[in-house]
Amino acid sequence: EGRETRLRVVLRVRPLTCAETRRGDQQVVHSLGDGAVQVSAARHDATFGFSAVFDAGASQEAVFEGSGMRQLVELAIDGFSCTVFAFGQTGSGKTYTLMGPLAQSDTQPASPALLGLMQRSFTCLLEQSRSRGSDLALSASYLEIYNEQIRDLLSPGPPCALPLRWSKTRGFYVENQLSVEFDSLEAIVSLLLQGSQRRRTSAHALNRHSSRSHALLTVHIRSRAVSAHPAPGAGWGAQGSAPGKQGTLCFVDLAGSERVKETGSSGELSVEANSINRSLLALGHCISLLAKSRGKRTHIPYRDSKLTRLLARSLGGSGITLMVACISPSSRCLSETLSTLHYASRARRVTTRP
Ligand code: ADP
Ligand code: MG
Repeated sequence: EGRETRLRVVLRVRPLTCAETRRGDQQVVHSLGDGAVQVSAARHDATFGFSAVFDAGASQEAVFEGSGMRQLVELAIDGFSCTVFAFGQTGSGKTYTLMGPLAQSDTQPASPALLGLMQRSFTCLLEQSRSRGSDLALSASYLEIYNEQIRDLLSPGPPCALPLRWSKTRGFYVENQLSVEFDSLEAIVSLLLQGSQRRRTSAHALNRHSSRSHALLTVHIRSRAVSAHPAPGAGWGAQGSAPGKQGTLCFVDLAGSERVKETGSSGELSVEANSINRSLLALGHCISLLAKSRGKRTHIPYRDSKLTRLLARSLGGSGITLMVACISPSSRCLSETLSTLHYASRARRVTTRP
């Protein structure tokens, strides 16, 4: 608490897809063990280090246990603001890592072994809540940033833009967002599904189910502090002397970074691609500046995009953050892969003060 803490950055390399294998793509990314990964192609040979590297063979469970996600859930219960974000090019496995294949086909429920970091975190959270005698009040909100507008994914009816405000006590926050209480795994998973279905997806050349928006699901955890021995004659006020802890656990599924021409996007799609790129650029810019030592830091331009405003606390404030960088091992993705790896390496130098 209060001490400088580094962002934790782990890397996940997805397997080659059937299509990539069929067209004979080379595998240019190799895990070297001990958190090291090597990219070797004709004119490139580079090694990068992370807190952990998960290669094609890593199960969803291995990613949950090895990434520090369980500890993040526990810290959120202890009252910290915790964030995990998946970062990488379209089709690199961000949504798969966070939600598993479940979000992608609504016809068949995914096998439990394939459930992503989110469902595993919810399970862990609810187990903890039960073992603590249900003194945790849980609620969830789910937003997306689409074309620089914030939309509530849980409120019924047509999507309307919500205002983003700033206050001294709360920092940046979204006004009027819906927060829904839940107390079972089924309830929170159903909120996740409902919201994900509303999330704007459009088909384009790179990934048929690619998400065209950044999505943020936040679980609010409030411990109902009950003082065991209230002073005799003390009213409600006395209980307030030990205020309850309030933590959050936020899951951020970023839209992919991509060049407009590569995705064959035009018209409405290129407006989307441009606003996605603009906020990712702003994110990259904030991360580069934050990676400098505190003494050398200049002003951090969080206000450049909605995304960076919403992530301000996680990146530079009092949050505790885990970044899961996702890459494809294919030679065809080489330049995007290198860019993700450079970005992620830079993020390892970012610190917060939880
Ligand atoms: P993104 O969200 O980054 O655009 P997705 O998560 O949608 O990418 O993944 C793209 C495709 O690759 C999907 O069909 C997904 O099921 C598959 N995929 C991604 N990661 C893995 C993995 N670790 N194992 C198996 N399939 C994966
Ligand atoms: Mg996705």
